[in-house]
Amino acid sequence: MKISPKKIPSIVKNIWFRLIENNFEAYLVGGCVRDLTLNLKPKDWDITTNAQPEEIQKIFPNSFYENRFFTVGVKTKSDDSALKVIEITTFRLEGKYSDFRHPDEVKFAQTLKEDLKRRDFTINALALNKNFEVIDYFDGLNDLKKRLIKTVGNPEERFREDPLRMIRAIRLACQLDFEIEKKTFETIKELANFIQLIAKERVKDELIKILLSSEAVKGIELLRESNLLLELIPELIRCYNVGQNKHHKYDVYTHLLKSFEYAVKKNYSLEVRLAALFHDIGKPLTKSGEGPDCTFYNHEIVGAKMTRQILQRLRFSKKIIDKVVHLVKNHMFYLEIDKVTMSAVRRLVHRLGLENLEDFFKLREADRIGSGVQKAVPYRLRYLKYLIHKSQIKPITPQELKINGNDVMEKLNIPSGPKVGWFLKILLNEVIDDPQKNNREYLIKRLLELNQLSDEELKLLSQKGEEKIREIEKNIDLELKSKFRI
Ligand code: ATP
Ligand code: MG
Repeated sequence: MKISPKKIPSIVKNIWFRLIENNFEAYLVGGCVRDLTLNLKPKDWDITTNAQPEEIQKIFPNSFYENRFFTVGVKTKSDDSALKVIEITTFRLEGKYSDFRHPDEVKFAQTLKEDLKRRDFTINALALNKNFEVIDYFDGLNDLKKRLIKTVGNPEERFREDPLRMIRAIRLACQLDFEIEKKTFETIKELANFIQLIAKERVKDELIKILLSSEAVKGIELLRESNLLLELIPELIRCYNVGQNKHHKYDVYTHLLKSFEYAVKKNYSLEVRLAALFHDIGKPLTKSGEGPDCTFYNHEIVGAKMTRQILQRLRFSKKIIDKVVHLVKNHMFYLEIDKVTMSAVRRLVHRLGLENLEDFFKLREADRIGSGVQKAVPYRLRYLKYLIHKSQIKPITPQELKINGNDVMEKLNIPSGPKVGWFLKILLNEVIDDPQKNNREYLIKRLLELNQLSDEELKLLSQKGEEKIREIEKNIDLELKSKFRI
């Protein structure tokens, strides 16, 4: 199989062929060859070579050496994140990882074949030679055609060497929408507890890729079926088959997965996806009674605590944790819309945070669709959104003017009293019609003109202005109502 050279950016080709011109063997390798074969855009470009790290560095002065893995990163001038650094790795053998984090020693290999043999999956053990032909020692092309993730060599050995490969298998199955080959998958099931040996940060990075992929639901199910979920998020497994009351069609686990499915389908953020997946995770612990009338009091409070524990254990960033916990904790927010006051609405907005409202409504929607009951956005929810928007509208008052009552009294030399208010209201009306007029110089000049009018005239003008302001506010409200179909 040949790959069109046009598919490879010249930055990559230049670096690759500089090695060849210097009489070294060099190949594109791994994920980028897999993606080229599948006609996908590679996320990064890796080169493997028989040149030693010092030799590579001599050819590329603008490079840095990652000692542990014999990898030299060549910095380029590209802004494309996939091309900023091209990694060149000397042929190497599988290292022995007694702590499962850092190889005890990494040995160089002599040949490309040896290097490909230590790679995780057959579809990742492909290389591209200088004639743009795919080199395939482990039947990777055939597995690409069959859309299969399969370890190079014996799965048990390969997963024992590096248990992170188990979750990588699931991550790739999600990103590529592939199946995991049967024996490979059976072995993950058997060795799932080995994942505990891996640094949580590395596990988290793979997990995030699973959660953000379009096949994320399949990912969660694969994690569950492979026993990895039991190792990583046992709290979710405890929701499995936990029955709910009459307001729900599904058990807790299925409901969480369906909510998550909606968040994935709508391409919501990582935080909203996590909140959808965890929002009812406190239910098994708070369940009281059985059957159609069982209850789950305070499940959102318990669930928020559990969510924090889970995400901390998995080493998510504080920013992500705080956001997801906040969403889970308040996902039941509720207002009795027929009795509610505007100040109660404002208190709610304050509690949820204006900047989070959008995400709360996304979560609410995922929760509702995930319950499998009703489809359309219900009137109550639309009314709540309307109230929240309404509570954020600032009333039109003379405070918006660039002058105030003191200025009026001072400039016109009049005492405080209703007349001061009349002036301000008249000016406010002029400013609403033409915001340019809202500057001190103009307003003071205009004030002196208005001062020529009689009290009767001023009072009348001010009343007209007041009516106009009410009219504008009414229209804003009508617009909001029609926006939310109230
Ligand atoms: P992506 O598209 O996310 O970049 P990738 O397959 O390229 O996926 P990388 O982490 O970039 O993944 O790794 C590059 C290559 O290095 C892989 O294709 C594989 O050949 C090899 N590799 C990565 N991690 C492992 C591992 N844990 N064990 C064995 N080989 C690995
Ligand atoms: Mg890659």
